[in-house]
Amino acid sequence: MSKPRVAILTMGGTIASTGAAPDATTIYELDAARNPVQELLPILSGVADIVVEAFAHLASHDIPIATVLDLARRIAAIRARNEADGIVVTHGTDTLEETAYFLDLLLPAGAPVVVTGAARPASALSADGPLNLLNAVRVATSAEAADQGVLVCMNDRLSAARFVTKAHATATDAFGAAEQGHVGAVAGGEIAFFNRPRNGTRPRFDPHAPGELPHVDIIHCHLGMSPALVDHAIADGAAGLVFASTGNGSIPAAVKPSLTTARAAGVVVVRSSRVGSGAVTSAKVDDEYGTIPAGSLNPQKARLLLMLALRETRDRDHIAAMFRRA
Ligand code: ASP
Repeated sequence: MSKPRVAILTMGGTIASTGAAPDATTIYELDAARNPVQELLPILSGVADIVVEAFAHLASHDIPIATVLDLARRIAAIRARNEADGIVVTHGTDTLEETAYFLDLLLPAGAPVVVTGAARPASALSADGPLNLLNAVRVATSAEAADQGVLVCMNDRLSAARFVTKAHATATDAFGAAEQGHVGAVAGGEIAFFNRPRNGTRPRFDPHAPGELPHVDIIHCHLGMSPALVDHAIADGAAGLVFASTGNGSIPAAVKPSLTTARAAGVVVVRSSRVGSGAVTSAKVDDEYGTIPAGSLNPQKARLLLMLALRETRDRDHIAAMFRRA
């Protein structure tokens, strides 16, 4: 019987990085002449026929959003041409959740798309990248993983891109979703799904839609915050703003006049929370200033949804409806 075909698109990150010594777990770099993900092919090819495509070779905090859009288009093309039965993306963990969610917003149901990375470089003692990648490849070949939305495979767990977040700066068990949990696990090569993401009504966007992605900034709220941050973002041409607000999306009184400026300039403002779990609910400020509650989307994911929404429409109510379905 022929093996399933898996396309691995590599983006760089710690999984593709090396350090000077085996105990260098936090100091390491990408080597332009070496892609350690490629070196894992002999192990992976026991599970699937693999094609590796070096899509980018960057620390994930340096990946331009346009490259992630290109990645979505490339995955759409792989699916459309039936070039692979499943797709794995290897990525730095810092912004892994953003790329995974962006892909989730741009790709319809179909062949599995699994994003993975590593907390430790390829050269480290107990490097986690090789097993994360092998597990991701296994998941990408699993019929059960199809139509589940983009999945993240880290540290033997499977999570939905919609909910997963990086919650620890260095540990191998950095990924999870405090409220929603994982959707499955991989142990001893066996995959078990125990939750299904509710994807049916979520907003989806066309990766081939024309036009630039609009400029959307995140404003991190804090005690004694100055409205100047908001005013600057508006003057800088932002089409949308996401507030990483305190608590349940609170907006300080000192900042409210800037919401009026934003509204007059057609800038859509979304209220998310810096708290890390729970949903931002509707509030009086939304009626008074036209802001939109982000629900359980964290600020970095709310920003991605707002960018794609703003490319389609500037209508505040239409965008608010997308956030309610997200
Ligand atoms: N700085 C790295 C990155 O995101 C961290 C990692 O990959 O874990 O590229």
